[in-house]
Amino acid sequence: MESDGLQNVDMVRIPAVPVFNWSVGNFMERFFDGLKGGKFMGVKCPDCGRVYLPPRMICERCFAKNDEWVELPPEGTVESFTLAQVKVGEDGELADLEAPVLIGMVKHEGADTCLVARIEGPDPEEASVGMRVTAVLDKSAESILDILSHYVPR
Ligand SMILES: [Zn+2]
Repeated sequence: MESDGLQNVDMVRIPAVPVFNWSVGNFMERFFDGLKGGKFMGVKCPDCGRVYLPPRMICERCFAKNDEWVELPPEGTVESFTLAQVKVGEDGELADLEAPVLIGMVKHEGADTCLVARIEGPDPEEASVGMRVTAVLDKSAESILDILSHYVPR
């Protein structure tokens, strides 16, 4: 019988390395463009005045469309924090960190919502809610997600 060479194939492995290039949307794009320029850009609700950093298109309190951009300072206050002991490794499994890492939710002055990033400097026992911190940006970061590098106490 003549064969096309494929009739006995059960499985074919095709290596694929997809490269994704997707939009983060108008609002987050403006936020990340601001960070690249060293600015923290949030939005203010026209109805209730709530200020969102990171920006949100719709106010979660009154559902108004947020269209007023405001620049906020790099200084803020720790609203909550945790001490991370593990990370997600490259294989997707949890792996121990070499040293625990402080991760904080920081409300920038003038904002009503928080950004999340590492806090460097204080010993974990010295970290506290209400601690005043300043953002440190890494404008040479390869990923936009790494531009906000960490916070330090002030
Ligand atoms: Zn509102």
